Amino acid sequence: MPIDARLPYDEANIFAKILRGEIPCKKVYEDDFALAFHDIAPKAPIHVLVVPKGPYVSWDDFSANAPDALIAGFIRAVGTVARQFDLVEPGYRLLANIGHDGGQEVPHLHVHLFGGAPLGPMLA
Ligand code: 5GP
Repeated sequence: MPIDARLPYDEANIFAKILRGEIPCKKVYEDDFALAFHDIAPKAPIHVLVVPKGPYVSWDDFSANAPDALIAGFIRAVGTVARQFDLVEPGYRLLANIGHDGGQEVPHLHVHLFGGAPLGPMLA
């Protein structure tokens, strides 16, 4: 069920629990600003989720309210993860779902990083 991106941050959401170490994940990268881990239901040979270390519901919330250092660190972390998987030369895709029409399910900002094969049309 897609979420309303205007909702206040819910500390009980699944990615908050992963960030707190209460639920395991297959971690691929972590720094002061971001955690990256494999999606539990991958839709491409490489499907990694990158989440910022801060209580932001969506791209809207993050872009409006996060401190500049966290925004910069998060964006850099996404690029670092792509390079870590050697995806720059073959290419890859980033996706952030926001709110109802975007189909966002988890109310903590995350960027999907897809790669490892030609990804087809931008939208199904
Ligand atoms: P959204 O639709 O919110 O953009 O994407 C949420 C993503 O989170 C989905 O691709 C889903 O498979 C993934 N996901 C949901 N729960 C878990 C979980 O507990 N662990 C991991 N690693 N991924 C999850």
